[in-house]
Amino acid sequence: MARRILIAGNWKMNGLQSDGLALASALATHMRGTSDPAFEMLVCPPFTLISKVVDAVAGSGIQVGGQDCHAAEKGAHTGDTSAWMLKDLGCTYAIVGHSERRTDHGENDATVKAKAEAALAAGLRAIVCIGETLEERDAGKTLDVNRTQLHGSLPAGATAENTVIAYEPVWAIGTGRTATPEQAQEVHAMIRSELVGKLGQGVADAMRVLYGGSMNPKNAKELLAQQDIDGGLIGGASLKADDFWAVAQSCP
Ligand code: PEP
Repeated sequence: MARRILIAGNWKMNGLQSDGLALASALATHMRGTSDPAFEMLVCPPFTLISKVVDAVAGSGIQVGGQDCHAAEKGAHTGDTSAWMLKDLGCTYAIVGHSERRTDHGENDATVKAKAEAALAAGLRAIVCIGETLEERDAGKTLDVNRTQLHGSLPAGATAENTVIAYEPVWAIGTGRTATPEQAQEVHAMIRSELVGKLGQGVADAMRVLYGGSMNPKNAKELLAQQDIDGGLIGGASLKADDFWAVAQSCP
């Protein structure tokens, strides 16, 4: 089944207003000059830039997402942002369970599942991140760890339309060390087969599974050519418009 490639940029905690605007505008110019792109493009700026980026990419086809959301709709949660607030700003996606959130904020699978369910309830699509550490890979636990995180983090009511999985080996994030296409494909194939058991063949065939971890213009083509890799969640290389655009141009 043909799945539409998703090229998603995670800007993390980077960019003042002028940087964010310049990056978003450059990408929007690329997109506006492309008829019928072979991919869907998403950028996830820091919260402070979302409104400006939504305006800058308006009409280009580029979508905007949040990097996280709270599980509750509103209330006494100082410093947090709800999925409904992201939606209100014009976002269409929220990343949940990024390994930096799991590490820096002690998020576990239950937290991630609750956040993903909030994203769906608010009318956003959830990008649910999973991935093993180097220690877990070296101990031969890669498939088990990812299987457990997948089952624990998948939101109730997940469909191929409202949920995307991102496999991001923690040891490859921001390190310049990328999983080989074979290493990534092995995990992606496992994820898809688990999705068959959990959601049925039709949903599993249609649900997108992204790879993330030092994806860049040099390695994107080979990674994106893998049978079960349906796009990328890109950190560092998403901060330069030309690099991010070059990754998008690597779509098969
Ligand atoms: C990420 O933050 O999701 C990521 C994959 O980062 P990088 O591309 O920099 O490894």
